[in-house]
Amino acid sequence: MRKYFGKGVYGAIAVGKISLFRKKETEVCRHGISDVESELTRLAKAKEKATAELSEIYERALREVGEDNASIFETHIMMLDDDDYNESIRNIIENRHVNAEYAVAVTAENFAGMFSSMEDSYMQGRAADVKDISSRLISCMSEEEAGDAMPTEESVICADDLAPSQTVLFDKEKVLAFVTCHGSRNSHTAILARNMNIPAVVGVGKEFLSEIKDGDTAFVDGYTGEVIINPDEETMKMMKEKQKNDLEKKELLKTLKGKENITLDGRKINIYANIGSVDHVGAALFNDAGGIGLFRSEFLYLERSDYPSEKTQFDAYKRVLECMGGRKVIIRTLDIGADKKADYFGLSHEENPAMGFRAIRICLERTDIFKTQLRALFRASAYGNLGIMFPMITSVREVERILEICDEVKKELSSEGTAYNAKTEIGIMIETPAAALISEKLARLVDFFSIGTNDLTQYTLAADRQNPLAEQFCDPHHEAVLRLIEMTAENAHKQGIWVGICGELASDTSLTREFLRMGIDELSVSPTYILKVREAVRNTDLSKE
Ligand code: PEP
Ligand code: MG
Repeated sequence: MRKYFGKGVYGAIAVGKISLFRKKETEVCRHGISDVESELTRLAKAKEKATAELSEIYERALREVGEDNASIFETHIMMLDDDDYNESIRNIIENRHVNAEYAVAVTAENFAGMFSSMEDSYMQGRAADVKDISSRLISCMSEEEAGDAMPTEESVICADDLAPSQTVLFDKEKVLAFVTCHGSRNSHTAILARNMNIPAVVGVGKEFLSEIKDGDTAFVDGYTGEVIINPDEETMKMMKEKQKNDLEKKELLKTLKGKENITLDGRKINIYANIGSVDHVGAALFNDAGGIGLFRSEFLYLERSDYPSEKTQFDAYKRVLECMGGRKVIIRTLDIGADKKADYFGLSHEENPAMGFRAIRICLERTDIFKTQLRALFRASAYGNLGIMFPMITSVREVERILEICDEVKKELSSEGTAYNAKTEIGIMIETPAAALISEKLARLVDFFSIGTNDLTQYTLAADRQNPLAEQFCDPHHEAVLRLIEMTAENAHKQGIWVGICGELASDTSLTREFLRMGIDELSVSPTYILKVREAVRNTDLSKE
């Protein structure tokens, strides 16, 4: 038995026999040519053939995985036609007098290298696409018939890496799971696997393929990224049990998908998803989220070694908004400090960082960072239904200052002629007892409240959420916490604004009835809890004791 760890791309579990997928590689040699024109004609013919093949793959993808996913191959067709890409190939042939295959291979390396070095993770994912179209182009110039070996029976496909066009050509009925040595969560292959509902783990390491063989048994956990080869009897039993529970949950999920979040006596509530990255939007949609109730934007900052630019942020926010269609997306501004630190912020050491210089306190002092984020957010607001919310509020003055800065940013955008939605909802997190206690005044200033029960509990009960010794005191069911939640809900409604809960407590179904009774309008939970909370809401009857 051996264990490997990679990145889980789609949450599902599979057990089965391994089928090693080896791509049929066309070896590219460099050789000199004397007739440039006829080499360019060969290239043009290969491009025509590659385009025809991609159109066929597009049609197939359209039937099997729907329009959104099939559009990858439309993009591939466009990439094949890209001016820069073609110019580079032509230049190499003309200037170096070399064969077209070699010119394509060099161009593919250069372009893939350029994409991989980009800051934006979406663009990094495009490196695989350019390699994919280039190897198709090369194989279209070869005499041999191209074609990769496809599995003939149900198997766990293990490969060094997979190109999107290979992924979509697998017979879905035969693929139990995908495991690859390389690959990123953001690659189109990963997106396809997710959308084909196939458990997948990428990036298990380059040794993986040399240590397994056809016919080995693999257990693949797309939730945790764990891959176990030839599990012993006891592990196998445990894994089968895990798979059975997972399938049962999925069955429940199916019956609740598309249903309303409504109690037996007719009270409706919104159930949204908490996400920490653009990559989680798929899980939110798959689990039928009505919107995004909390996008923890600080992860955009934490995964980097320098401040994310306005463009990087804009691209990320815009993508979430576009993916969610017209559904509400609430993005929380930078909540850094305490347990979430990035060296490049140069924050000094503090004895009690959770009660120190964090979140909105940093933003209101480092207004350059704050304004960059707000510009990205307001610009993205033109692409969907955005709400912006601010963490760690303790006073009216803070909120007034935030609103002033928002106005400055909006004025700046207007004077530049940059589009934004002037009606973007502005909300604050209620996660300190101070904010809950003055919530009546705060409610006059904003459009919504979102209660952060994780911090609200730690600050109310003086119990550090990071300290295992304080865990026994960090009880979110404590009467004091529940009273502050109720007080916040009452004050929000008195001022006619809506109120949600986005802390972990929102998914605690033993309190769903209580939250509904308090009049909470929205619960925002991890994507995997959405249907569990929906079930609890649908089983509640507020008219009965
Ligand atoms: C909270 O405090 O409840 C919350 C949602 O914010 P975070 O957990 O990110 O601090
Ligand atoms: Mg918090």
